[in-house]
Amino acid sequence: MGINKFKRTVNFAVHPDDQVAGKVADKFLETVSKAKDQAMKKPTLYQQHKAKWKDCTRCLLFRKRRRVVLARGKLPCDILLVGEAPGASENVLGKPFCGPAGKLLDYIMLQAWGEDYTSYAITNLVGCMPLDSDRLHKKSKSYEPPLEAVKACWPRLEEFIAIAKPDAIVAVGLLAKKYLAGGQPKYAASIVHPAAILRADVSQRGLAIQQSIITLRDVRKDLVPF
Ligand code: SF4
Repeated sequence: MGINKFKRTVNFAVHPDDQVAGKVADKFLETVSKAKDQAMKKPTLYQQHKAKWKDCTRCLLFRKRRRVVLARGKLPCDILLVGEAPGASENVLGKPFCGPAGKLLDYIMLQAWGEDYTSYAITNLVGCMPLDSDRLHKKSKSYEPPLEAVKACWPRLEEFIAIAKPDAIVAVGLLAKKYLAGGQPKYAASIVHPAAILRADVSQRGLAIQQSIITLRDVRKDLVPF
């Protein structure tokens, strides 16, 4: 019997149960293979950055911090905003600008850039909350990170800038401006710190918010006209 006649004679149909079992097996192998790929994947630069700094003890701010607060946003990004230091909410949640001041900053960015623009990231001069920080409720400057902490944390900031590759850096607050305006080539502008806006008299807040929106809008326009 020729091979073609043999094929026509013998029924090669697969039993439905075998088909289901085959699909399950394929799915299983696919999952195992994905898990293997994932396990073998090299950590991203930001993952390496996180691993390197999460237990940092380079300055005394490590003593009372709950978490090292690194960054949030998109990487790489067009615009990097650099604030001063994490506050109480950030210390608990581990993300920069996630408390009341952060909500105001989000509002300012939304008004300046619109909801479709996401090419920005946010970090601070230092990764740990200053020892007596609760900036929203303090009128004094004691929440500011000490110079030693800013110096100790500078390599972390530089490393993050190298990962984020921003075209423009915006200082958030006077202290950030003081350190960035002189020594950071990507420095473009500064805005009032949203915590300072929240501490200000209600009658002055609207103007400060409006100025910040205009500044951020101009920074983006200088990069890509929109
Ligand atoms: S502030 Fe920066 S340098 Fe100091 S302990 Fe925290 S991560 Fe390290």
